[in-house]
Amino acid sequence: MHPVVRSVAAVSLLLTLGAGVLGPGDTDPVMVARIRTEGLQRSRVMEYESYIADVLGARLTLSDDMARAQDWALAEMRRLGLANVAAEPFMDFGQRWDNEYVSVHMLAPDYSPMVGYPIAHTRGTDGTVTAEAVIVEPQTEADLEALRGTLRGKAVLVTPPAVVDLTSLVNGVPRRTDAELEALERVVITPPRPTPARTVRNPLLVSNEQKLRFYQAEGVAVVLQSESGWLGAVRGFSRPGSRADTWSRAGAEAMPPIVAITPEHYNRMHRILRRGIPVRVEVTVRNRFGAAPEQAMNLVGEIPGSDLRDEVVMLGAHFDTWHGSPNASDNTSGVAVALEAMRILKAVGAKPRRTIRVALWAGEEQGLFGSLAYVRQHFGRVGDSLAPPTTAHARLSAYFNQDYGAGQYRGIYLQGNEAARTMLTGWMQPFRDLGMTMVSNQSLGSTDHVAFDEAGLPGGQFLQDRIPGTGGHTNLDPLEAIVPEDLMKNATIMASYVYHAAMADERGPSKA
Ligand SMILES: [Zn+2]
Repeated sequence: MHPVVRSVAAVSLLLTLGAGVLGPGDTDPVMVARIRTEGLQRSRVMEYESYIADVLGARLTLSDDMARAQDWALAEMRRLGLANVAAEPFMDFGQRWDNEYVSVHMLAPDYSPMVGYPIAHTRGTDGTVTAEAVIVEPQTEADLEALRGTLRGKAVLVTPPAVVDLTSLVNGVPRRTDAELEALERVVITPPRPTPARTVRNPLLVSNEQKLRFYQAEGVAVVLQSESGWLGAVRGFSRPGSRADTWSRAGAEAMPPIVAITPEHYNRMHRILRRGIPVRVEVTVRNRFGAAPEQAMNLVGEIPGSDLRDEVVMLGAHFDTWHGSPNASDNTSGVAVALEAMRILKAVGAKPRRTIRVALWAGEEQGLFGSLAYVRQHFGRVGDSLAPPTTAHARLSAYFNQDYGAGQYRGIYLQGNEAARTMLTGWMQPFRDLGMTMVSNQSLGSTDHVAFDEAGLPGGQFLQDRIPGTGGHTNLDPLEAIVPEDLMKNATIMASYVYHAAMADERGPSKA
């Protein structure tokens, strides 16, 4: 059953009367029209997308790059006229880390420049190093012992040749088909989880961290690896053990520099070495560390509510990225949509009943740390925390997140919250012509709404189309792959959902 969309006259009459305006899923056609015009005819979303991706660039949590970007975002929120704009520190995140410079070449048996990026929170090389490359594949302590005394000054190749997936090479992953969307809408009944089989770790095996410390003690010049599986792509992650030692400089200096190389360049060296022909490489990496440990920060800003100002509707996206590219899709696109949704709401003169708060998270890529800490701090009761729910817990109406690429919204995930179906379906009606038609009872994980969901708060993600050619967490997540119309639609839909959540008579229902 479709909820009633009341006529303009009835809505204006009711507005003058005050309460009792918008039932569950009802929309205000006047505001919908304004939001659509602002978001689709006067969009600024690509200005945000391009400025953040092109000018600010990659934004590793707690880096000089991120600090610069966060300063810009705070200033932009103030320019938009948001209230209570603030940076909220949430946890120690070690010392700042930035890559200043990287250069990787094969010198022999043939000259070839190579594409590589240092792994985050690693040290740099001692100047420019020229080194013999060798393949090392130790599994046990005995294997390490056998290598003792053989690795000084070497460049060690530590991963097996990368297996390349060619299926997405030409056109990338296609957009979702109608059949796929229908499958997402089908009701899924979750079967009970089987008890996982116990895995027993072979005590003789050595961990990656042990191996890396051994290489450092043995005087290895640089560690080379390749794990992406896509041609031209390098995955950027943190060094092993960095979470445990809080991304510290000391942890970085206990290991050699680690550089990830594209599969085609890495595999070529591997094949030559397997022939018994020597390979010489030249590598320069300069990484910068902050002087002392600092806290990472989330950013927030608000449009204050009116009669229900103590109640809050939130929207957000993670502002942090891995360091190998500006990450135009993951998650510059989510940030651009969140900022543009706030701009639209200010531009149309929205006077929400509930407070609307935007959050730009940090620490997402390392483990959803920013949103998790925020929910613990502000709402209590999440995951392993036994903290009682705070007063604010009962006053959060909804949290809307974007972090599944830059594809347009095709619907919304209920995240198992059947009670919210009427509201979330109703708010979709004015956007059916933009392709926003699906309600899926399925759930998504792996991003910032999870902490809300686990705390029993109504939080979720829109159901997004895929865009060929974007690869989060790699060096290949370029602005060229972003489709402006998709982001324009998303910001418009986001603004309308947030607005109606802030205006509805009732708060968004929590999961039964
Ligand atoms: Zn992401």
